[in-house]
Amino acid sequence: ANEADKAARKERLLEKDRNYVWHHMSPHNDNPLIIESGKGSWVTDIDGNRYLDGMAGLWCVNVGHGRSEIAEAAAGQMMKLAYTTLVQSHIPAIELAAKLNEWLGGDYRIFFSNSGSDANEVAFKIARQYHHQNGKPTKHKFISRHRAYHGSSMGALAATGQAQRKLKYEPLGAGFVHVPPPYCYRCPFGQTEGACQLQCAQAVEDAIVWEGPDSVAGMILEPAITGGGVLVPPDGYLPKVRSICSKYDVLLIVDEVICGFGRSGEKFGHQNFGVKPDIVTMAKGLTSAYSPLSATAVSAELYASFKEKQTESHFRHINTFGGNPVSCAVALKSIEILETENLVSRSAQMGRAITSGLEPLKAHPHVGDIRAFGSAIGIELVEDRASKVPATAERVAAIIAGCRQKGLLIGKNGDTVPGYANILTLSPPLSSTDEDIAFLIRTLNEVFALHVA
Ligand code: PMP
Repeated sequence: ANEADKAARKERLLEKDRNYVWHHMSPHNDNPLIIESGKGSWVTDIDGNRYLDGMAGLWCVNVGHGRSEIAEAAAGQMMKLAYTTLVQSHIPAIELAAKLNEWLGGDYRIFFSNSGSDANEVAFKIARQYHHQNGKPTKHKFISRHRAYHGSSMGALAATGQAQRKLKYEPLGAGFVHVPPPYCYRCPFGQTEGACQLQCAQAVEDAIVWEGPDSVAGMILEPAITGGGVLVPPDGYLPKVRSICSKYDVLLIVDEVICGFGRSGEKFGHQNFGVKPDIVTMAKGLTSAYSPLSATAVSAELYASFKEKQTESHFRHINTFGGNPVSCAVALKSIEILETENLVSRSAQMGRAITSGLEPLKAHPHVGDIRAFGSAIGIELVEDRASKVPATAERVAAIIAGCRQKGLLIGKNGDTVPGYANILTLSPPLSSTDEDIAFLIRTLNEVFALHVA
């Protein structure tokens, strides 16, 4: 097509977009970026501009874009069997549940759903029912952390610890209690990293005691809070929370929606800390986002109580698309790629390469902190390094726009200041090449150099 045709096509699409599409999580935008294709770590917009996908979509395209082997697996499964329920069973779900057990290194039953939010809702319902049928029917509350994100549905949003996402939608699901997160750069307890008593973990026990242990069903946490600003806990935090949960018969639900499938540098984020969760939820990297799918992995011990008295105690939950055969086939192929290309260890190595490449930014007047959990990276922007006053929304936006202009898409997260986020996030595809990573590092350093004032 010639230039005039291309421009006319773009205008037609933009007009339909303006008239009909309701964009996610953002103010109305008359001129959105329209991404048309992707290959490896790069995406191309409708004008032919290429961008490095520095967030792997939304922390999810772990194996990178344009994998024909995944497309073939999906097409093959669609032609063989596009759908059947999981009231019965099908081969891709069976194989995937077994594969997930291998990855989890434990004995888990897998309940399939569609999204991360769904997987967390399932976890909450299973936790409540478990206590209900095990002589502790008053256990119903969940502890989670401020700044955490656990999803958009009424229960998962209630677990979320970011007021701005919640205020206009209340009342949400009842029974969610929040404690301060481990956030060493701005320790909620005024402590210094490495010289504290893990007061943030103690806060979990205090909350359980004050709420009444007989009322608390579970604790939900991400191994490192990702969307809330990449907050990596001290090494002792998760083991301490695990033992507190065990002490009070509070189930530990680990949300691996982002951290799972290699992002953390291990197969699952919690494996960095040597803890065994009671329930693990996962989505995103499960299929590398080629198709929607999520899973709630429940320890065999918990599952036993659902199996014992089948007619009374089965889990009364179904979702039509959960564990769709095509999505399960896609997940199996995506996991096979993670394995054959050693992308889990690649993630750890890539995270180290990025943090060392961004070392010069640690002296930048507007960079307060750089944190990494595997290859999930957060750059916390401040007005001033001494006062740690969060950077203005304009400053954050200018850096993001500067990156985009140079062909790099990055994210922002955190919501330190109500209404906007001051933490830039990176989470490139785990399949990124050394050249991709060099481009990402070079571009960020160049853009920051233009924003010293
Ligand atoms: N948990 C975490 C940690 C997440 O980051 C997200 C999504 N960003 C969710 C749950 C919800 O997943 P979904 O958007 O697929 O519902």
